[in-house]
Amino acid sequence: MSQPAWSRVDAWIEQTLLPPDEALAATLEASEAAGLRAINVAPNQGKLLMLLALMRGARRILEIGTLGGYSTIWLARALPAEGRLVTLEFDPHHAEVARANIARAGLADRVEVRVGPARATLAAMIAAGEAPFDLVFIDADKPNNPHYLDAALALSHPGTVIVADNVVREGRAADPASTDESVLGIRRFMEKVAAEPRLVATAIQTVGSKGYDGFALALVV
Ligand code: SAM
Repeated sequence: MSQPAWSRVDAWIEQTLLPPDEALAATLEASEAAGLRAINVAPNQGKLLMLLALMRGARRILEIGTLGGYSTIWLARALPAEGRLVTLEFDPHHAEVARANIARAGLADRVEVRVGPARATLAAMIAAGEAPFDLVFIDADKPNNPHYLDAALALSHPGTVIVADNVVREGRAADPASTDESVLGIRRFMEKVAAEPRLVATAIQTVGSKGYDGFALALVV
């Protein structure tokens, strides 16, 4: 099995379980037209995020890494009307594209895009005593993943779900000799997760239209 087969199966899953969705299709089209890289989660992965948020009954969601707002829209759809999603993005152009996509999807009332380096934004949120989040999705620059985990824990409560994307990287993350900064960030993140008594966690390898990767899933207890 390789990429063509994984993509074919993802297409089948999408055709079978994910009805056509104008807002999400328009989000991907607008993101591409604006020159954003197609490094958003796959549709079935986005729906998994929505399902996790629904299963958790999330009312407050934090996302680190917005891009064009594709995963943001999936996650925000799990929120009740009075729910809130805060998404952090470094690049003002990405944030502008995301805000338009989120507004088109009818979710502007519950989503806030905060622009800036996420570590600084998170530090300001913690210093301001921001209320804890029920679900945190980490999907930005991987070298900073250990810092994002610390911030996610500081902004969590027992029952918070933490999801981190791209923790396998075609298997490169399992190489202890790697000097790749992203791999090092992911390995340090996984070690910190393992050493954290407040977390129960696992990680899952995935294949699909986005290649071979995986995600980590943790629960704050
Ligand atoms: N979650 C998005 C989705 O699935 O639709 C994809 C996010 S993309 C993989 C990563 C995003 O994180 C990019 O838009 C990038 O500009 C942003 N990013 C990278 N470094 C960052 C940082 N230090 N602070 C905040 N955002 C950052």
